[in-house]
Amino acid sequence: MSAVLRFDPIRLPPECDALRKDVRAFLAEEVAAGTFDPHRPHREGKDTRGFSRRVGARGWLGMTWPKKYGGHERSFLERYVVTEEMRVANAPTRHFFVADRQSGPVLLKYAPEHIKMNILPRICRGELCFAIGMSEPNSGSDLFAAKTKATKTDGGWLINGSKIWTSSAHVADYMIAIFRTSPSTKENRRHGLTQFLVDMKTPGIVVNPIRQMTGQTEFNEVVFTDAFVPDDHVLGEIDGAWKQATSELAYERSGPERFLETYYVLTELVRAVGPNPDTRAAEGIGRLVAQLHTMRRMSVSVAGMLQAGKEPVVEASIVKDIGTVWEQQLPHRVRDLAAFVDVDPSNHATLADQLAFATKVAPKLTIQGGTTEVLRGIIARGLGLR
Ligand SMILES: Cc1cc2nc3c(=O)[nH]c(=O)nc-3n(C[C@H](O)[C@H](O)[C@H](O)COP(=O)(O)OP(=O)(O)OC[C@H]3O[C@@H](n4cnc5c(N)ncnc54)[C@H](O)[C@@H]3O)c2cc1C
Repeated sequence: MSAVLRFDPIRLPPECDALRKDVRAFLAEEVAAGTFDPHRPHREGKDTRGFSRRVGARGWLGMTWPKKYGGHERSFLERYVVTEEMRVANAPTRHFFVADRQSGPVLLKYAPEHIKMNILPRICRGELCFAIGMSEPNSGSDLFAAKTKATKTDGGWLINGSKIWTSSAHVADYMIAIFRTSPSTKENRRHGLTQFLVDMKTPGIVVNPIRQMTGQTEFNEVVFTDAFVPDDHVLGEIDGAWKQATSELAYERSGPERFLETYYVLTELVRAVGPNPDTRAAEGIGRLVAQLHTMRRMSVSVAGMLQAGKEPVVEASIVKDIGTVWEQQLPHRVRDLAAFVDVDPSNHATLADQLAFATKVAPKLTIQGGTTEVLRGIIARGLGLR
């Protein structure tokens, strides 16, 4: 294997077993209390805020962050276990997962101390929902073409323009966004963007929901008209966001959520074929599980590298590429294997319902968080091929 590409052979340490049991017991209690139904993959439960606070109360948000900010100083591998169990159970994580996975680490690195002291403990308590404002109508993959402007004014900046596809903006308390503070330069077309923390209650921000083909409205257009952001909400270097946004993506791209989004159709298939599948069904399921196992080892490896303080951007891109293509194909492969399921309608109903939903979810999986083509470009560059 090339020296620039390395998946350290990490295994989850023994303390993860006890944690896994605790998370499973907690999720079973939540299911029993009616918070969500693990067989229904529509993770927009009625009580996502309450669920978020209860997860925070267990100490499972900000797990790797310093205690002085409300964190728990545990390992990325322990965090991995919590994320994995939540996703496998179809738990309603929407309220907290962006803040916990991505926004908190950005604030930890770049926010002024008083902002960290104010916001991070609230994320750890499960009180805050975050959105990511990167994409714009004419800049998605090409992040550095962003045009939404931040113009200097007394004590802060005035924001004008729009963001698009902003997940959870309709429920978010804050957004971490990049805005144009200077034109790009001839020498560096990435220059001129700055990262900001934006309070979503700021006057001048309008959120317009966009309906997806699942019928849900998880993402939005966000329009800014002279929205004021104070100076102390600038994150990191003015005009230098390009250096910051790429390391953030290692957190976004490698977790178990990047191959488990349609996983429920596989477990439902296993249930529906029962304990004595015929050879073809057993072989088909065996193949899928072997692939899943391999991806999981790679994803755990990235978590281990993050734990070791590395920035495995290329490895994370590989996990996301392989993982999202796999989870995108999964509903189709399960549909083929379902031909071997007992024709009894009671055996088919949940599987059919889940397959219908997963098939509509599947197309987005290789777009969100960076498209397959763009990821392969990053991988090729990381390997020195371009
Ligand atoms: C469900 C969902 C949630 C999302 N949530 C968020 C969010 O919360 N915040 C946010 O900021 N964005 C979010 N996005 C937006 C997402 O990051 C962008 O859609 C994505 O980066 C692609 O950008 P685009 O849609 O502008 O497509 P484009 O960049 O226009 O790409 C169009 C096509 O061209 C290909 N292409 C583009 N550039 C290259 C290249 N250099 N080489 C080869 N092929 C290329 C792409 O792969 C794609 O097939 C979300 C998207 C989805 C689907």
